Amino acid sequence: MIPYGRQDISEEDIQTVVDVLRSDFLTQGPAVERFEQDVARYCGVKYAVAVTNATSALHLACLAAGLGQGDVFLTSPNTFVASANCGLYCGASPDFVDIDPRTYNLDVTALEEKLVRAEQQGKTPKLVIPVHFAGQSCHMERIAELSARFGFSVIEDASHAVGGSYLGAPVGSCRFSDMTVFSFHPVKIVTTGEGGMVLTNRTDLYERLICLRSHGITRDARRMDRAPDGPWYYQQSELGFNYRMTDIQAALGSSQLQRLDQFVERRRLLARRYDAALSSLPLTLPWCAPDASSAWHLYVVRLHVQECAKAHREVFEELRARGIGVNLHYIPVHTQPYYRRFGFAQGDFPAAEQYYREAISLPMFYGMSEDMQDQVIDALYGVLA
Ligand SMILES: *Cc1c(COP(=O)(O)O)cnc(C)c1O
Repeated sequence: MIPYGRQDISEEDIQTVVDVLRSDFLTQGPAVERFEQDVARYCGVKYAVAVTNATSALHLACLAAGLGQGDVFLTSPNTFVASANCGLYCGASPDFVDIDPRTYNLDVTALEEKLVRAEQQGKTPKLVIPVHFAGQSCHMERIAELSARFGFSVIEDASHAVGGSYLGAPVGSCRFSDMTVFSFHPVKIVTTGEGGMVLTNRTDLYERLICLRSHGITRDARRMDRAPDGPWYYQQSELGFNYRMTDIQAALGSSQLQRLDQFVERRRLLARRYDAALSSLPLTLPWCAPDASSAWHLYVVRLHVQECAKAHREVFEELRARGIGVNLHYIPVHTQPYYRRFGFAQGDFPAAEQYYREAISLPMFYGMSEDMQDQVIDALYGVLA
């Protein structure tokens, strides 16, 4: 089976990890600090905080933004459940904004309409979490304008978009947001096994993130409410977590990061090859916004269900039977049984639901050879033509 995504681990990656195993630090030592600096430099952002995964990164970012009980937050229904679960961890109420049928990202015009209505009802959201679907940035300039006008914080869920750019700046620069979150899960662009990061330019947010990552504890005398009892002393001032990344993971991350541009360039080439090969099939191919450069985490096609003799599910099953590990990103979050308890129902976000009935993620990863890609293309012709 050709998988939809797969990590690429080099001998150098392996050696870097082995070196950490022979060193004095296994967790949150010099390799974590180096990885944070490496990512911050790559993105042109002031601060980076490495954590256990993107889910904990999103959780900490929501807490740092001050999200809590009684607050409303908005995200896209076309995402992994973690983009919405993070707000629930803080006791806040979820809501969604339907997607743009071209980019499959949160529709900024729908967002504006929702904000105007919310303001009339005196209940604007505290936080918006745009998700850069498949690696292509949302329309962040307009989201930042709306954030200034309606007074909400912005956390970019850039789990798909490490190595992408928007208006010429790397995703993660936080030029149009308070914080950006990355995932380093093996199917994403760069991996640390499990891993995540929060990026920000704001010193106040950075300090809260650092504190919350490690139990809400500080060892900095300037941040204590009295003089330290001695050199062993620390103070817990709020309730935090153990979300620390290990040095083993961070070393792998720094080593992988050196190949990030190479990873994205290969994905871009594969995307162009799919574009050229698939244009005569009953499929809508990915649309590239002129202001963004995608990291190509996913290559998603939409089946023209009206023109196609076969049902969406049949196409999936036949491709899987031919050894093509197609997948579906995403089941609209508001249709999940857990989310229905918040009052959401089928029909609430029709563009995301229509997309779900048509979408197919094709295999896309750095190590995919042209031969493998041709197998995917041949299988698609076999099933659809
Ligand atoms: C993968 C992913 C996450 C969660 O990442 P983990 O590192 O596995 O916690 C969150 N949001 C999106 C959009 C993702 O694709």
